[in-house]
Amino acid sequence: MMNVRTVTVLGAGTMGHGIAHAAAASGFETRLFDVSATQLAKAHAQIESVFRRAVELGKATAADADAGLARLSTHTAVADALDGTHLVIEAAPERIDLKLALMADIERHAPEDAVIATNTSALSITELAGATANPSRVAGMHFFNPVHKMKLIEIVRALESSEAALETIEAVSRQMGKETVLVRESPGFITSRVNASIGNEAFFMLMEGVASARDIDKALKLGLNHPMGPFELVDLVGLDTRLSILEYLHRSMGEKYRPCPLLAQYVKAGRLGRKVGKGVYDY
Ligand code: NAD
Repeated sequence: MMNVRTVTVLGAGTMGHGIAHAAAASGFETRLFDVSATQLAKAHAQIESVFRRAVELGKATAADADAGLARLSTHTAVADALDGTHLVIEAAPERIDLKLALMADIERHAPEDAVIATNTSALSITELAGATANPSRVAGMHFFNPVHKMKLIEIVRALESSEAALETIEAVSRQMGKETVLVRESPGFITSRVNASIGNEAFFMLMEGVASARDIDKALKLGLNHPMGPFELVDLVGLDTRLSILEYLHRSMGEKYRPCPLLAQYVKAGRLGRKVGKGVYDY
């Protein structure tokens, strides 16, 4: 198992900035790389504000926040970000061509024993690993948004992931204060597969007139103790995002995951959720 002191995060977007914050806050020397300098500056400001907020809430001291920020550096040169690192966490956009190019950068610039984790939600980790000389050091490390609030990391075993790589990721997750589950690589892992199924079933019930959207949400919150109803949640996630997850599960695992026609119709109507002011509900 690798004794990780330095973590490199590739991609400074929604997930990358959150992952870099979690790494810096938990004592790792953290390097954040992005192709966009503007995005890096934005990510740095977001991370700073999460640190400051923790101080305001009494969850960290000002000295802790300063020390955390001092452990963070931002990079627009991938070679600098990867030089001598122990763990790489890839959080670039969900496109196989980009991620394969990053695997090549890692091969070129990172030490050959560095562990490579990817935050991909749905691309094949085995395919990414297969593009490297030593696929055993590659595994999935699936964080949740917003990273500083969400407790879970799904650790994903690809075809050839080694125990040592999985243990390294587990140890880093623990140091970040997260809980983990170990999943064999399969579409949607645990969380997206269950969540997409519940959300799809809720749309089928709405389409069949079983109950109103408000009552379906109310039933799952008060009867099943879900913190949010399925329609409140899909409005937050984005109906287009949910539809593409279901289409992917349907393609890879069959009929059980066929997207509800009403969901597809909402997407065609432009009712994509909170981000556009209207989804299942109007905002
Ligand atoms: P995002 O679009 O917010 O951020 C991606 C960042 O990568 C951007 O800052 C972009 O400038 C940068 N980038 C583009 N090309 C790059 C390259 N070649 N090298 C390095 N950086 C590059 O995306 P996101 O929502 O943070 O998603 C990142 C990954 O995390 C995806 O694989 C996604 O599936 C996964 N994921 C997302 C969520 C979520 O809720 N958003 C949750 C879990 C996993």
